[in-house]
Amino acid sequence: MNLTFTEELPPGAIPIYVDASLMKKSGCQLAFSLTLKGLRKIIDDPILTLGKAVHKFAEVTWENDLQALAAGRDVMVDAKLDAAEFISVASTRPAGVIPKPLVVNGRAGTEFYFETPWLTFIYKGTIYVIIICGTIDHVSFVNGVMRLYDYKTTRYYKIGDALSKYKYEMQFTFYAWALWKFGHKFFDLDIHNSIRELKLTFSVVVIQIKTKPPKWTISSPQGFIQSDLENFENELRKALVANLLPYLDGESASNGRISNACAQCNFAELCYAAPGMEDALIASLYTQKQYTPKSHT
Ligand code: SF4
Repeated sequence: MNLTFTEELPPGAIPIYVDASLMKKSGCQLAFSLTLKGLRKIIDDPILTLGKAVHKFAEVTWENDLQALAAGRDVMVDAKLDAAEFISVASTRPAGVIPKPLVVNGRAGTEFYFETPWLTFIYKGTIYVIIICGTIDHVSFVNGVMRLYDYKTTRYYKIGDALSKYKYEMQFTFYAWALWKFGHKFFDLDIHNSIRELKLTFSVVVIQIKTKPPKWTISSPQGFIQSDLENFENELRKALVANLLPYLDGESASNGRISNACAQCNFAELCYAAPGMEDALIASLYTQKQYTPKSHT
């Protein structure tokens, strides 16, 4: 597979959307392949809905607090859940700690979505294009530094446990690399230049929803060095080749079994099902639609 850099969409190319969520599956060819086929487990967990409501609140609150509360409450009500827990979490948000979002193309940089072509290749006569994409919860630009934030709602009672869980999240490096590499496509030149100089930090905003009262904690800003981002890009390329070829050939190996990846995999019921049960399981436990980052939020 010969991967060629491209800034534009080659005519007629089939897009393959690559985001951090997909790459988290790259330790198992089968999990990667099933994700790319758009298979997604239906998870009916109130904490996920509460997380969505808090994200909605955090997205809108820069424009209008009351509208933000209403937007978050609507998420809960639509899921037929009591909105009181959401209101309790939202009302403890610390004011003035997270800087105002950067305005990008006339829109506040919350739930900031980016996508851009990166690599193209021809395989068995078909042209493909790999599109790098993602959604960053909050993007700010303060004193010449790009500051990125990601909200994580958690059941952890100890803040140290929650911060440890996210300390080495691949997702943050993925976003930093994408902005460092393609920032000229999304931002004005002065901002792009700052990012190229690695005036760029990432913080996770941990929201403990089970403490009384709920608590918001912002981690220390994490910086990045160029060699790490370059290594990340090299590893990303290798992982894509290792996983895309079996996906395109329909021959993905279930190699997550040898790395204990199955323990956290949403496809485990399917993989470990009795022979002949797969179709019934897919119909009852999963949804399927074309994989794009926006289809899976
Ligand atoms: S359950 Fe295991 S083998 Fe199956 S897709 Fe997930 S990680 Fe791979």
